Amino acid sequence: MALIVQKYGGTSMGSPERIKNVARRVAKFRAQGHQVVVVVSAMSGETNRLVALARELSKAPDPRELDVVVSTGEQVSIGLLVLALQDIGVAAKSYTGGQVKILTDNAFGKARILGIDEAAIRRDLAEDKVVVVAGFQGVDADGNITTLGRGGSDTTGVALAAALKADECQIYTDVDGVYTTDPRIVPEARRLDVITFEEMLEMASLGSKVLQIRSVEFAGKYKVKLRVLSSFEEESQGTLITVEENRNMEQPVISGIAFNRDEAKITVLGVPDQPGIACQILGPVAEANIDVDMIIQNAGRDGTADFSFTVSRNDLDKTVNVLDRVKAVIGAKAIEADKNLCKVSVVGVGMHSHPGVAARMFRALSEEGINIRMISTSEIKISVAIDEKYLELAVRVLHKAFDLDRPAL
Ligand code: ASP
Ligand code: MG
Repeated sequence: MALIVQKYGGTSMGSPERIKNVARRVAKFRAQGHQVVVVVSAMSGETNRLVALARELSKAPDPRELDVVVSTGEQVSIGLLVLALQDIGVAAKSYTGGQVKILTDNAFGKARILGIDEAAIRRDLAEDKVVVVAGFQGVDADGNITTLGRGGSDTTGVALAAALKADECQIYTDVDGVYTTDPRIVPEARRLDVITFEEMLEMASLGSKVLQIRSVEFAGKYKVKLRVLSSFEEESQGTLITVEENRNMEQPVISGIAFNRDEAKITVLGVPDQPGIACQILGPVAEANIDVDMIIQNAGRDGTADFSFTVSRNDLDKTVNVLDRVKAVIGAKAIEADKNLCKVSVVGVGMHSHPGVAARMFRALSEEGINIRMISTSEIKISVAIDEKYLELAVRVLHKAFDLDRPAL
């Protein structure tokens, strides 16, 4: 007998028929002798509808009241699922976040979980009940309803699994796992059986469509065994997200190819090559709340340097404005912006013990005549900035160069 936390997303809960389907799946696990705690999202589209409704009444809704409104979608879901379970003879009980006492801070709209009182849930489980908990919501120390940010039900699921020391946290969604890359770009992309937490975080551009990234960080921190599965397929084992030790030693060096379309590059030309310049350029950028990704600096022979970095394309104009203001102070000759870049990354925990990954990556790109504009690396990732028009081509050749279209051993 195992204790399993299952989280069902909005699509899985999208209609009465689908809710019955979830109930049947939960009943199947119960019948196998497992204890089941279910976390549910609002029915698909419901949270958006509630947000829009609030905005019709107020241009800048009060965050506390907005949470009162948007948290209701999940309350409907828990009640409906328990009714569906009872209807097929499964004893079940619903809880809002506040009823469990999922204690959060008071950052409405993006609250963080501080603690979970699992006593009531344990009591119900001991009485052989299925416990159904509303995702996405909690309660602060003053009893205010809070929400955890869009996609937050995943985090509720993981947090409950951590608090209950569950054997597994299963996230049921409309895709059957995490893929080696986006199948819309590479039809040969394969579902990964296993991926580590670190890789999953690096693959955010692919993974964030599957799981709220915060839930992955949470699962990594508390070592929750996390599995992503489709609620529409019976057979697939989905993707297990786990710690490195649990990976198969035969696992390929590279797990996947991630990418991000909306990059822009800024170059500050001809700044004096002296201490403090990087900080004078990037300080004001950081103060304007702009995230900087890749950075390179090239010193010339004439005592000046060119300083380049990338930001998300949405932030480009803002960044140029900030730099225009400091240009004279830092003594820069010119500021250039290039907004047609993208970033492509190869990701894999195996690379730290396998030299030559970068060389293989650069060779594959050069054979297609793709010019690398910037490079950055971490322990488990190598990223290049390239012209956006080459994105699809680059993802395809790298997927092939690292044998990702072949089934794992
Ligand atoms: N219903 C919330 C949302 O749409 C939370 C979730 O689905 O995870 O963001
Ligand atoms: Mg989701």
